[in-house]
Amino acid sequence: MSTKGRPKRVGELIRHEIASLIAKGLKDPRIGFVSVMGVRMSPDLNYASVYVSLYGNESERKSSLIGLRHSAGWIRREVGKCLHTRITPEIRFFPDDTLDQVYHLEEVFEEIHKDQDTSPMLRLDLPGLIEEIRGFDSFLLTTHVNPDGDAVGSLLGLTHFLRALGKTSIACVMHDPVPQRYADLPGANKVVINPRKVPECQAVIIIDVAGRDRIGDINELVRHHQRVIVIDHHLGEGPSGSIGYIDSSYAASGEIVADMFELAGLEITPAAAHCLYVAQTTDTGGYRFSNTTPRSHRIAVKLLELGVDVAAVSQRVFDTMPRPKFELLRQVLNRIEFSPDGRLAHSYVTIQDLDEAGATKEHLDNLVNYARNIEGVRVAALFFGSGPEITKVSLRSDPDFNAAVFLENYGGGGHAAAAGATIARPLDGLRDEIVNRITKLLTDAPEGISE
Ligand code: 5GP
Ligand code: MN
Repeated sequence: MSTKGRPKRVGELIRHEIASLIAKGLKDPRIGFVSVMGVRMSPDLNYASVYVSLYGNESERKSSLIGLRHSAGWIRREVGKCLHTRITPEIRFFPDDTLDQVYHLEEVFEEIHKDQDTSPMLRLDLPGLIEEIRGFDSFLLTTHVNPDGDAVGSLLGLTHFLRALGKTSIACVMHDPVPQRYADLPGANKVVINPRKVPECQAVIIIDVAGRDRIGDINELVRHHQRVIVIDHHLGEGPSGSIGYIDSSYAASGEIVADMFELAGLEITPAAAHCLYVAQTTDTGGYRFSNTTPRSHRIAVKLLELGVDVAAVSQRVFDTMPRPKFELLRQVLNRIEFSPDGRLAHSYVTIQDLDEAGATKEHLDNLVNYARNIEGVRVAALFFGSGPEITKVSLRSDPDFNAAVFLENYGGGGHAAAAGATIARPLDGLRDEIVNRITKLLTDAPEGISE
């Protein structure tokens, strides 16, 4: 069969299909009145350039184009259902400047890039997120600095999910190393730490963190990527220009991944179960923290039925304290001070303490909980002077004191009961300030505080 007229025919089919999708109405509210003027196919049929006429004033037309570009993955999948080609072409929308003379292509694209940088994250529901993910073939996954059990567990759990979806091109990168106690998770040995370059990919997925500033140096490597997908359970809005799913009712990002398996109709593999159980059990403090829900337990039941070795995970994750961590703990406990009413307990460590203990940052994880567990304490704070001008604050609180909101004033975030901030100020002055502010808040409103 001659293939000469094929691009034209495929292009016409695509034009027809997109026009009818638009006529039925697309979900993105930014898409206003648009019509498809023509489609130009690349000779290999891998790309379809879709030329659209945009109506309305300049900002309406711009919004429509942004909306169309955001919906391109979904549109591609819908189109794919009607095309009988081996690969569904990637769809790119362009304003039709032959019909729309006042529109200057270059300017528009510059504007769009600017707009994408500032437009708020497009929130999807979980089925929508899965659909979006299905539309891509290659992925780069990352998570936050100082990764905890949920960061590593959900990141690796997500790689298992993508494999179950049939994806094969998946790379995982992180700013900081995998902490030793999570190093046995299936796939942990494949995570590349602090690379100088990242492989080409169609989509970047950031999990267990909503802010680009929290992925460390990886941010620089993915800054200009067109498609950033966020999956998270922290309080926050998500990076501008991205799309994603953020739901703070989940106790762990790993729980979201477990639900993604379920919604996609896929069996959780034993390897994924191991990762997701570690994600859940660490972020819920062994199903004891206030974020633990009936859903957490339902998910846990499923994971245990898949054979997770609870005793082995607990021993490794909770009950084994490396000697350097123990040495830090000594310091932290020795230095605990209380507010006059005993409602705030706070302590500190410095980089020198870490050096002396032979410890690394990963050994600081959850040291603050010891102060939190003292009777009468409603807020616990641990200050870590990681440099002369940089202080990391960790807060743990009871549900009445919203630690994440409190730390927003310092550029931090997290959850209501567990939050952190990294602040470019020396430890001493900052500690006094935060201790005084929290003490006052707890004294002024002893029964219920949500800043
Ligand atoms: P941790 O105190 O254990 O480091 O962190 C507690 C929570 O606060 C975690 O959910 C973490 O993501 C968040 N968090 C910790 N440090 C920072 C920070 O520097 N900035 C922001 N925005 N959140 C943080
Ligand atoms: Mn988490």
